[in-house]
Amino acid sequence: MEPKSHLASVLAAGHFAVTAELSPPRSAALAGVRHEVEILRGHVDAANVTDNQGANVRMSSIAVSLVLVQEGLEPVMQVTCRDRNRLAIQADILGASAWGVRNLLCLTGDHGKWGDHPAALDVYDMDSVHLLRMVREMVDGACFDNGRSIPAPAPHLYIGGAANPFAPPYEYRPKRMAKKVAAGAQFFQTQIIYNVPRFREFMAGVRDLGLHQEVNILAGVAPIRSAGAARFMAEKVAGMDVPQSLIDRMSGTPKAAQPAEGIDICIEIVDQVRQIEGVAGVHITAINWPEAVPEIVKRSGLWPRPEIQRN
Ligand SMILES: Cc1cc2nc3c(=O)[nH]c(=O)nc-3n(C[C@H](O)[C@H](O)[C@H](O)COP(=O)(O)OP(=O)(O)OC[C@H]3O[C@@H](n4cnc5c(N)ncnc54)[C@H](O)[C@@H]3O)c2cc1C
Repeated sequence: MEPKSHLASVLAAGHFAVTAELSPPRSAALAGVRHEVEILRGHVDAANVTDNQGANVRMSSIAVSLVLVQEGLEPVMQVTCRDRNRLAIQADILGASAWGVRNLLCLTGDHGKWGDHPAALDVYDMDSVHLLRMVREMVDGACFDNGRSIPAPAPHLYIGGAANPFAPPYEYRPKRMAKKVAAGAQFFQTQIIYNVPRFREFMAGVRDLGLHQEVNILAGVAPIRSAGAARFMAEKVAGMDVPQSLIDRMSGTPKAAQPAEGIDICIEIVDQVRQIEGVAGVHITAINWPEAVPEIVKRSGLWPRPEIQRN
C-alpha cells in the first residue's frame, strides 16, 4: 500500500497539527533548503513549499518538495494556476506523487502584476476550485481532467485549499470555502491571522455551514520581526489585516526587543486561535526567519510532535 500523508494521519488521530512555510531559494543552490529542513525537523508535521509566492520567481515547488522527501521532512507542495496550464499541472502531480509527495495545496495564486515579472503572461487556465476538482478526480476517480483514465497507480495525495477570512466581503469567505470543500478540499490553511476577532467571526460562519466537521482547518500565524514589517504588511500586502493596536505595540517596543515581541504576539495568537471550535492546527509563516518556528512551537506547548505509524 502507498504510504499515507503524515499530516493527514496526525489530524485523523485528533492531534493539533503544526505546519510551517518553507520558501524555495531564489538561487540554484539547495544548501539553504537543507539548512531550513534541519531547523524545522521535529517541530512541524509537514512543511509547505511555496510556488513562486508573491509572483516572484524562485526554485520550483516540485524540485524543493522532492528535496524534502529525500530529507525525510514531509512536504505540502503548493501549486498555483498562475504559471502553468492543466497539462503541466497534471504532469507535475503525477511526478510529485511518484516521488513520494503526499500533500498538495491548490491555489489560484497571487496575480502576476504584483510580482517581479509584471510583463509575464498569467495562465489562469483554471482557478483553485477547478484545480481542486481536477486533483480530487485524479486521486479518487483515477481520471484526468479530460475524463480519460489514469493507468494505475493514480496519484495519492491529501488535498488542501487556502482560505482568506480577511478579504471583503467577509460573509462570502465561508461560502468560498464551501465551494472548495465541495470540489474536493480535505484541509485548509488560512491567510495569516492578526485580527483574531475577525477570524472568530469567520469561523462562526464556517461552523454554521458545518465545514469544520468535513475538513481540517489550520489557522495561519506569523511572527513579525519589526515595527517596519508590521507597517509594511498592513499597507502593502494584499489580503492582510494588521490591526493598528499591533503596529502600536511593536512601535512602542525598543528596536532590539522587537523580534522577541513579535514572537510573543505570535504565541498569544496561537493560544487564542487554538480555543476556537473547528481549528485543527496552525500553519506558521516565519518569513526569512525559520529559527522562530521551533521557539513558537515549543513555547506554545506544541512540542514534541506526535510520532504516527505511517500507513
Ligand atoms: C496558505 C497560503 C499559501 C499561499 N501560497 C501562495 C504561493 O505559494 N504562491 C502564490 O502565488 N500565492 C500564494 N498564496 C496567495 C494566494 O494565492 C492569494 O492570496 C489568493 O488571492 C487567495 O487564495 P487562492 O489562491 O486559493 O484564491 P481563491 O480563493 O481561488 O480566490 C481567487 C480569487 O478570489 C478573489 N480574492 C481572493 N483573495 C482576495 C483578496 N484578498 N482581495 C480581493 N480579492 C480576493 C480574487 O478575485 C482572486 O482572483 C497563498 C495564500 C495562502 C493563504
